[in-house]
Amino acid sequence: MVVMKFGGTSVKDPDAIRRLARIVAREQGISGVPVVVVSAMSGITDQLLDAVAAVERGDAEGAARRVTAMRDRHRAAAEALLTAGERRDLVIDALERQWRETASLLHAMSVLREVSPRSRDAVLAMGELASSRLVAAALTDLDLPAQCVDARCVLVTNADHGHAQPDPAPTAARLHEHVLPLAKAGIVAVLGGFIGATADGVTTTLGRGGSDYSASLFGAGLHASAIQIWTDVDGMLTADPRVVHGARPLPSLSFAEASELAYFGAKVLHPSTIAPAVAGGIPVRILNSHRPEVAGTTITANPPLPEAPLTGLACKRDITVIDIRSTMMLAAYGFMRRVFEVFERHRTSVDVITTSEVSVSITIEDRRALDAIVRDLSAFAEVGVESEMALLCAVGERLRLEPGLAARVLGALDEFPLRMVSQAGARRNLTVVLPQAQLQAAMARVHERFCLEVQPVAEVVA
Ligand code: ADP
Ligand code: ASP
Ligand code: MG
Repeated sequence: MVVMKFGGTSVKDPDAIRRLARIVAREQGISGVPVVVVSAMSGITDQLLDAVAAVERGDAEGAARRVTAMRDRHRAAAEALLTAGERRDLVIDALERQWRETASLLHAMSVLREVSPRSRDAVLAMGELASSRLVAAALTDLDLPAQCVDARCVLVTNADHGHAQPDPAPTAARLHEHVLPLAKAGIVAVLGGFIGATADGVTTTLGRGGSDYSASLFGAGLHASAIQIWTDVDGMLTADPRVVHGARPLPSLSFAEASELAYFGAKVLHPSTIAPAVAGGIPVRILNSHRPEVAGTTITANPPLPEAPLTGLACKRDITVIDIRSTMMLAAYGFMRRVFEVFERHRTSVDVITTSEVSVSITIEDRRALDAIVRDLSAFAEVGVESEMALLCAVGERLRLEPGLAARVLGALDEFPLRMVSQAGARRNLTVVLPQAQLQAAMARVHERFCLEVQPVAEVVA
């Protein structure tokens, strides 16, 4: 069995959903009945967040207006996709009811003037609940019997709203209870990604972009033969195409490389997607729903080494560097522990760390607790903060195998003011931190020199 995940742009309108149906039908002909995971239609999660923000500002009318727009978009898609008749009426009614429920939820939140992480998740889940209902109905209408399964009855998580942690064992049990029997009966189960619920049924979400993670959890729980991530580009590219002109698709990639690229900013894959696939030994493929004939990227444990020195680059903007200099005696032990306790207390994760004898530099992405972190660190250290920095991460198995490569990459960046440089023990990545204004030029330089395949020298015919 194959688990197929379609992102927001792959379900964004009736044409996209018809393309999805053709892709699912083709897969069904090859490997049997698949399980389908869908994101909300593109832009819907942002609109739901806007509606919540409107409630927070006391703008109940603004929130209601957004719900009406989302309801109209889903209704128009259902009318365009489904043949007139009882099934269409039932689906449209169910969607109407769902958007009414969304409006009541937002109304209650604005009366109480209270937006909690829990109520925010209840609202955010509506996007995937609606798209999964719509896609299941559309598949059935196009002669691919399908049924929507409420992912909140399947994906069990803890109660960490907004970035809930899944619990794989009960999730696998529920997949066997609710999803497997459908596939065995020849019915495509369609589940919303990104959403789950606690063991006692309170709605949770996995964090932005989390549908990829849902798909790999379902793939692992069902012992799928492959996890397909259908998106709007030709696979994992050598760099973010919005940053580097001429980024090219990678035919293959190792699990470890894909994890590094995703963790350091390659948005095409949620960073948690790889772990369940590794645990289950399941290949992950990234494919383009606009061009299903393109081979895409296959991610496995040990793919062949690429020709180019580096496999790919990732980057993150809006990084903050915190320099922490000990005011205690030189090399006093316990210093690092105190530093990391501060970040733990303020629930802020750190990306890159470099140290010298008396100082440590740390990068963070989430600045919400910055003031409190600086205050707490200042109790035992001198602290400096630099914002508008960026992180450039070069990834490739060859960094581990070819001793001079990291030095050559750094050499290519000799004109750039590198603020931090780091290469961890696994040595598959080399990360540098530099001013954000220089990121694009630095990415272009490294990409051009290290990510494009070595071109064979043309033979000169006399
Ligand atoms: P989906 O809605 O299908 O989940 P996303 O928008 O989350 O799609 O991810 C796809 C986007 O990720 C691409 O359109 C591209 O702009 C961006 N992206 C960033 N880095 C990379 C990369 N290395 N390879 C491919 N896409 C990337
Ligand atoms: N709809 C969610 C988001 O926009 C999850 C996803 O698309 O993966 O973040
Ligand atoms: Mg995504």
